[in-house]
Amino acid sequence: MGGMETDIKFIDENGLRIDGRKPDQLRPIKIEAGVLNNADGSAYVEMGKNKVLAAVYGPRECHPRHLQNPAKAIIQCKYNMMSFSVGDRKRPGPDRRSVEISKIIAEALDNVVFTENFPRASIDVYIEILQANAGTRCAGLTAAAVALADAGIPMKDLVPAIAVGKVADTVVLDLDKEEDNFGQADVPMAIVPRTGEIVLLQMDGHLTTEEFDQAMEIGMKACMEVYEIQKDALKRRYAVDAAIEEE
Ligand code: ADP
Repeated sequence: MGGMETDIKFIDENGLRIDGRKPDQLRPIKIEAGVLNNADGSAYVEMGKNKVLAAVYGPRECHPRHLQNPAKAIIQCKYNMMSFSVGDRKRPGPDRRSVEISKIIAEALDNVVFTENFPRASIDVYIEILQANAGTRCAGLTAAAVALADAGIPMKDLVPAIAVGKVADTVVLDLDKEEDNFGQADVPMAIVPRTGEIVLLQMDGHLTTEEFDQAMEIGMKACMEVYEIQKDALKRRYAVDAAIEEE
């Protein structure tokens, strides 16, 4: 992001993007629930070239203990980019960016989990970015919500997430790496579909009020598409379980 100088033509004469998508078109999305045996819940998400794994443990005893909340469970989230997830090897371990992303994802999830059912407990969410191509925080949050549901944790709803933004003076949905690097704005967002609440909203770059309204509109619509894919993943997962039980 940052509107750097480039010769790339982001929108062609037919109004299509570098990868042939329309401005309001998502990259292909694939979600699978329950992919890990040893976690309480898990999910694998592909959003375009992003590949993300989320695992959930809990509710379980909260460590460190001083973080315990007598009124509710806390959600502890660790977002991590693998060294091999980006072009140049990423230095392993937490950095400012991953601390920020972990925090905003935990806060988004806190809006839907019935944390008051589990005083003093911790619900631990681990998000591993296996391959990154912009929009990993959205893919990570989308995966984490499915993993929480897969763990059987009581929730008001799932949380679908997507980024909207602006390239070549055009409002676009679900920016890829080039669009994110050279675009004029990047606005990741996440919603609670049942209520329409926005539980994550960040903005890097600039949009006019009209562009922002347009971005919100296509972002909301896209979140509903992601939501359907999240639900399908959970239905498939439990259909498989039911079939095994019947055997
Ligand atoms: P998001 O992945 O949520 O869009 P950013 O906008 O911060 O988050 O990052 C955009 C993209 O830039 C990432 O998806 C990734 O492809 C790339 N990126 C981020 N951090 C690094 C890094 N440390 N090294 C190389 N590429 C990175």
